[in-house]
Formats: sequence, C-alpha cells, structure tokens
Amino acid sequence: MSVSLFAFVCCLVAGVALGAHSNGIDYNHQELWGGVCVTGNKGHQSPINVITANVVQNPRLAAIKFSNNWKLASAHGYFNNTGHNVQFTLDSSSPTVTTTFSNGQYQLKQMHMHWGKTTGTGSEHRFDGDQTEVEIHFVHTRMTTAGTTSQNGFAVIAVFAEVSRASVSGFWAKLDPSRVPHANKDGFKVSNFKLSDVLPSHLNNYDYYHYDGSLTTPECTEAVQWYLIGERIKVPAAYLTSLRSIKDDAGKVLDANYRQIQALNSRKVDTPAICGKSLSKC
Ligand SMILES: [Zn+2]
Repeated sequence: MSVSLFAFVCCLVAGVALGAHSNGIDYNHQELWGGVCVTGNKGHQSPINVITANVVQNPRLAAIKFSNNWKLASAHGYFNNTGHNVQFTLDSSSPTVTTTFSNGQYQLKQMHMHWGKTTGTGSEHRFDGDQTEVEIHFVHTRMTTAGTTSQNGFAVIAVFAEVSRASVSGFWAKLDPSRVPHANKDGFKVSNFKLSDVLPSHLNNYDYYHYDGSLTTPECTEAVQWYLIGERIKVPAAYLTSLRSIKDDAGKVLDANYRQIQALNSRKVDTPAICGKSLSKC
C-alpha cells in the first residue's frame, strides 16, 4: 500500500540517495528504502506469506460491514499513475465511504494495485507461498482517533485477482491504465464508480484473514490492520498487459511493484471463528 503523505516525506529523505526515483520507491532496490522499512521497525512489517494451516480462529473478529455507499454508483475521483502504482483517489465530490471492522469504523481514501511481470507473480501477500497476478488495496484511515501512526491508524482491505481470458469490461474498463502511462500526471476523472464492483461478487463478510502490519512502501509505518479477502476475482489478461506498460517516475517500465515478503515474527494471522480454517463452513 502507499499513502501520498508518506511518499512526500520519503521524497525529501531518499530522493538524493536514489537519484532518479523522486519518490524513493525503487522496487529493484528495496534494500535502500527509507524509514522503518529497513531499520527501527518492531518486526510488524508487510506483506507476509500466510501459512493457512497456522491461521488462528478468533471469535472476536466480526463480519466486515460495508457502508451503503460501497454499493451505490456514487464514488467520484481521479485515476492516476503515482510513479509506483495506479491509484483511484476519492475526491471531495464523493460521498463518504466507510467500512466497519471489529476494532472500529474507518473511512476509505483510495484504492491502488500491485502486479508482477509474469503469471504467478504480482500480489504482495502470498498464501502458502503462492501469489496471484494482481492485489488491490483499499486504504482506509481510522475515524475515531487522531493520527495515523498508531497501530490501528490504517485499515487495508486486500482483494486478490487471478489472470483470466475475460475481456476488459466493467470496472476494469473504467480504470484504464493505458490512459495514465506516465507518472506524476493528474490522471483522469472517474465518476459514478461502484466500489463494490471490485469485491468478489458473492463476498462472504466473514471470509478474510487479519493481522497487524505496515504500509508496504516507505516509510513502511507499522500502523495497519490488514484484512485479506479469501475469495478471489478475475483480472483480464489484456488489463495485465496495460499494467505492465506503466512507467515509473524515473521513466522506466514498472513491470512489477510488489514488496518482498517480510518475517511474521511473533504475530498471528487470524480469521473469524465462524469460518475457521475451512472457509467452506462460512
Ligand atoms: Zn498497496
């Protein structure tokens, strides 16, 4: 995930060290990233590899509740190339979109994508070692406390997409990467967007994995509650081709933008007890 505020701070710190990458996010040199990405973290970094056999059932985890505006064609904003991903950012003309998790209510700010160069690569999180071709992040900020550096400052819903032969239609057609090939442009206006179109069509609101983690771009702040949706969606192969043609802020082809797997350390990944380790119980 990424948040422009952190990209800006990072720009000041790492811009010199990384030369052409003004935002300091070079996926070929992740060892040079700033902030707690490399040093000073508490071992709660993201992404992780979820070993499904080790996932813990947690009766305190509730269903994710999506506000009604998720389901209405009422979101407005801009789709642009940030220099390290493509992002749809809700603007002030958009009605507030909120999501309620077990620990409180959060407001949706933006959604963006991660992808890879080849089939079988792309997602940041892995399940038993496997990646999907795209991972979509819905980035929320907490509504009830000030600041975004606390452990619960952000909540991110991750949706995983597998390559398919389907044609580019629906929301994929609305968020067209070929219209934003270059970084740091304003992008184009997207109106009347229905955010729930991006979710799995038969989403079970208990069908997720949760853990405490971090932003996956500098500063890699350890302030994210992660919600990884179990059911997958399909990404058209032609859309993947467009994503892999995006240029980063150094003018190079951004054919992969996923962070390397981070150590789980003492953390547990949990899932609502109603689903348990076998999601067929949902
Ligand atoms: Zn992301």
